Amino acid sequence: DGEEESEEKVAGNFGVLCKGSRCITKNWVVSHQKEDGSNDFEYKMSNDEKFNRPEDERVVEMEYVGMDRDDSKFIDIIMNDVVDGVGIGFDDIAGLKQAKQLLNEAVVWPLVLPQLFTGIREPWKGVLLFGPPGTGKTLLAKAVAGQNNSKFFNCSTATLVSKYRGESEKIVKCLFYLARHYAPSVVFLDEVDALVGARGAEGEHEASRRFKTELFVQIDGVVLSKGDENAQVTVLAASNNPWDLDEAMRRRLEKRIYVGLPDFTTRCYMFAQFIGEDSADPSVDVTCIETLSGNTEGYSGADIELVVREAKMERTREMLQEINVEDLMNEMEAAAVAGEGDEGGGGGGRGEKKQDNIMIKPQDLFGALQRVKRTVKDCDKYHQWNAKFGSVF
Ligand code: ADP
Repeated sequence: DGEEESEEKVAGNFGVLCKGSRCITKNWVVSHQKEDGSNDFEYKMSNDEKFNRPEDERVVEMEYVGMDRDDSKFIDIIMNDVVDGVGIGFDDIAGLKQAKQLLNEAVVWPLVLPQLFTGIREPWKGVLLFGPPGTGKTLLAKAVAGQNNSKFFNCSTATLVSKYRGESEKIVKCLFYLARHYAPSVVFLDEVDALVGARGAEGEHEASRRFKTELFVQIDGVVLSKGDENAQVTVLAASNNPWDLDEAMRRRLEKRIYVGLPDFTTRCYMFAQFIGEDSADPSVDVTCIETLSGNTEGYSGADIELVVREAKMERTREMLQEINVEDLMNEMEAAAVAGEGDEGGGGGGRGEKKQDNIMIKPQDLFGALQRVKRTVKDCDKYHQWNAKFGSVF
């Protein structure tokens, strides 16, 4: 029957397995053939198990299901380089209410509650998040994965293209294989315009053409499996330059969500979040936060984070000036010596205590604001592109 046939088809696929490789299908039979054709050993591995027999440190042959030998050598690269631990939800992201709602309706809920959405709205499998840099596009993609407990494959151009020139299409194949295997999963294509730019079509190298073709084949596979509960793979892409995007790629990213700069209220949240309750002097109050927000029109989330980081740095510098560093080091040394004979004896010196407690002050923040300028100059181009290609909801 059909099942046997598919077993038949994949039999004979072999790949190379190194120590630490993960078994990515239900069953692997690992074996090593001696020159005379007989088997040195045969070993069964189950799903997610790591190949870790100390006596088998050499490279061995393995049998697995559904992947070509040539593509399989990228498994470890992708698993080590690409899969990112996700511990973030929509609540950790300031503002962007509309983008969150759209992603929830479009991607998260249909996957979590497929029975509720059949016939009403099928999940969108290809979504583009576009807007100026540092506005939370990567955060949103991670949160989508976090909301429905998906594996997150964070693919930058560097991982997919530059590092392994000429073999990129094999990495792509392997990537989507792993994404399907670990489904539900989110494949995040960062800087997608650089990955498949519109320019250079004529002078395009054979290798990059192969790469593009493979990427499209894989994305189409994902899009076609819409509604199929067994293949819950979502492709999210991000771009700071959506106008540079290849048209064929743009078409495949059927929903396009604008992620813009934070407004006044969102900037207030950001300042509060980045400063943190425990490290603010009481004089950093609501009025102070609102003034900061009022003075940072046009700043991105990443800019605001930098302002706060600078302010904390400034406070640390001042503290270091207040205390005599040499005294502090002597004090710490003395405490360490005393500590050797006396467990928990009395606690650290004056300087040590101060260092634990950075209490950021309004003047630090306003000082930092003088030094950190907004990085995004103009959003008109984004608005125009949004009007032309953005999704209307
Ligand atoms: P990009 O849009 O370029 O993908 P990121 O999502 O990587 O931007 O955000 C960069 C950093 O800026 C984040 O790590 C975070 O600290 C901060 N940031 C940006 N936007 C937000 C936001 N809306 N809420 C919280 N932090 C944000």
